Amino acid sequence: MYFLIHNGMLIDGNGSKPIENAGVLIKDRVILDSGSEDSIKLPDGEVKRIDAQGGFILPGFIDCHVHMMFNGFRFEDALYTPLSLYFYHAVENLKKTLEAGVTTVRDAGMADYGVKIAVKEGLIVGPRLQISVMPLSITGGHFDMQLKSGHTVKTNYPGLPDAVCDGTEEVRKRVREVLRAGADVVKVMVTGGVISANDSPEHPQFTLEELQVMVDEASYRDLPVMAHAHGASGIKNALKVGIKSIEHGTYLDDECIALLLENDAWLIATQLAHWVNLELLEAGELPDFSQEDSRKVAINSHKNMKKAYQAGVKMAMGTDSGIAPHGQNLRELGFLCDIGMTPMEAIQAGTKKASELLGLENELGTLEKGKLADVVISKTDPLNDIHSMGNPENIVLVMKEGRVFKDHITSEI
Ligand SMILES: [Zn+2]
Repeated sequence: MYFLIHNGMLIDGNGSKPIENAGVLIKDRVILDSGSEDSIKLPDGEVKRIDAQGGFILPGFIDCHVHMMFNGFRFEDALYTPLSLYFYHAVENLKKTLEAGVTTVRDAGMADYGVKIAVKEGLIVGPRLQISVMPLSITGGHFDMQLKSGHTVKTNYPGLPDAVCDGTEEVRKRVREVLRAGADVVKVMVTGGVISANDSPEHPQFTLEELQVMVDEASYRDLPVMAHAHGASGIKNALKVGIKSIEHGTYLDDECIALLLENDAWLIATQLAHWVNLELLEAGELPDFSQEDSRKVAINSHKNMKKAYQAGVKMAMGTDSGIAPHGQNLRELGFLCDIGMTPMEAIQAGTKKASELLGLENELGTLEKGKLADVVISKTDPLNDIHSMGNPENIVLVMKEGRVFKDHITSEI
């Protein structure tokens, strides 16, 4: 089966000038050709045409930081929510994410191997997943769910290892457990966080020795480590042991920027989550212990992301959706422009660059011959109005691996 997406403006993810009257020719899961429609040689046999109606043809977006199993984050959820309900929510979350134009995600915690496989096998609809299963945390750290009451409010089930570990040997075992559970990437909390009760975002967590064990153990399977990191000393610890993906990066200083550049590491700004936390704060919906942290994080993040961008740090799109509501992922493109990116750079942060961070650059990230056919059509021009991409109604078509999951052009799906 051949598809020809045509009559649109092609923004192929490479950052080059958009091509008018463009087309993308697809066979089964893969792109056969893309470019000006006149230049595309059609095959013999039936070609199903998708008329983009003058819309903007883009690669499927990649969100490098989501939590498909979260819907907001409230400690009491783990007390009251039946286990199965998390999964039914995830079905909805995954669908919303895909319909927002995101065809690949990296889950930064709590989506397990079954969720990934359910999407892969087509049992449920969603973006393809890279998973970290369970983030690692020190005792009293960002993912230790024991409260000062002594009660622990967490969701545990087979296939989901415990988060908390201390000391190199316990850390080593925990990494191996997470890898056994199917992790594509090891996630570690190297600082405190906004939503945790017992720490602050500035506090470093884990020693250099413990972090080194994580990087080593992951490297035995050629897998990377991603670090939740707000405070500068935690960011530096992560970079010193060779972690290449710094999530949030809120309080990074000049030394952090120098290390990021020197190590060729990535920064994932997650501005969307900070904005949504501010919105919740204004609505009086944040717990006491999060209020001051969320205000400070939002202000400092904006300032420091701008600095990192200007210094030339590599940045890929990540939203922390799950903390933020699902399906608003592409609002992040607007926030990336607010820190100084051009719309084209923001699009690349969410496509080509993100594919590089996830090690998927040979399969995804651009609309080119040989890549998987992940294609999005926007009815608004992202180069003129990047903020319009944040409204899923403007995303009129979503194709993943040659299959159409959303089609508001012909209203068929
Ligand atoms: Zn997160």
